[in-house]
Amino acid sequence: MELETVGTDYPGFLYRRQPRNVYWETTISCDLACQHCRASAIPHRDPGELTTEEGKALMRSVQELGSMLVLTGGDPLKRPDISELIEYGRSLPIHVSITPSTTPLLQRETVSRFRDLGVTAMGVSLDGPTSEIHDAFRNVAGTFEYSMRALDWAREFNIPVQVNTITAKTLPHVQAMYELLRDKAAPPVRRWSLFLLVPVGRGAELDTPSADEVEKLLAWVYSISEEAPFRVGTTEAPHYRRYWIQQKLAEGMPLKDIQARARQMAFGIRDGNGVIFVSHVGEVYPAGFLPYPLLGNVRDLPRVRSAPRDSGPGQLHRPLRPMRVQVRLRRLTSAGLRDDRRSARRGSPLRVSARLSAGLLLRQPERAIGNQVH
Ligand code: SF4
Repeated sequence: MELETVGTDYPGFLYRRQPRNVYWETTISCDLACQHCRASAIPHRDPGELTTEEGKALMRSVQELGSMLVLTGGDPLKRPDISELIEYGRSLPIHVSITPSTTPLLQRETVSRFRDLGVTAMGVSLDGPTSEIHDAFRNVAGTFEYSMRALDWAREFNIPVQVNTITAKTLPHVQAMYELLRDKAAPPVRRWSLFLLVPVGRGAELDTPSADEVEKLLAWVYSISEEAPFRVGTTEAPHYRRYWIQQKLAEGMPLKDIQARARQMAFGIRDGNGVIFVSHVGEVYPAGFLPYPLLGNVRDLPRVRSAPRDSGPGQLHRPLRPMRVQVRLRRLTSAGLRDDRRSARRGSPLRVSARLSAGLLLRQPERAIGNQVH
């Protein structure tokens, strides 16, 4: 009853004009082989991935939308042009964040370069408090140490970090992980995001936590977030909002205060509303974890006025039911184009304008990397 009242009072629809974050899967190449990998990453690059110039055209579109670009993958560092792309994005300018895989490709000089280029934030994955637990999940020995070194370098170069943790097999270790991050990595950690596994990609092979386990995790997140020196939150766990509201009501917080806090905490479903995902071959989806419906392709769709609202089977579509998506894309020439004026001369420039409207999604106060995980 109270929850319904809270919901109906939201102003909502703040993202109907543009997504807050655009995630670009720059490549599906990665030197790790994580059990949960959404991208089903492979060692080599796909020849069909967006070219440097196509990427730059996408960045101009992101600038037009006023969104932040999150460079993800695969491992963005597997692209030899990644510095050029970041530099170009920053010159526009747009906010650019990056989620590199923690492999030998990520060196101190790399993080230093991120700082020089003005990278907004970096995502670092950690799935256990020890190398045994983390490396077993990542399927490559040594990645725990690389993640810890990445945190050290981010602190050295003053780059804010979002640590991402998949909670498929790490539930028994979250307290130890919290203590590790608190004692060794605050700063640079600004946010620790506990991802509830969405069984897509290789993650489809993993067991998801039970309802009881999830409820215990939500309770733990709620309690620890009161004392943590960084934000502790959930991703792909909209039911945490329900838990949070229940707790606040039980604690006697007035409804108007709950509503005000909820706005700051970005309640609601973000997939397709506040975020949009561009795959390595240019396909546009509501989110990386929600590869449905396909909204178009930044390369070749001339216009997609409206995504299907109730078509298609399955529960995945349900969260998008109130969503209307309009994506306008002008064809991208193979050359890729330096600016819109030059593009106009050559014809067929790419221009993306995404208009998303969905039920409840409220403005977030800070530039978190959000719902992309490695
Ligand atoms: S989850 Fe990320 S780090 Fe792991 S294999 Fe996939 S792309 Fe690489």
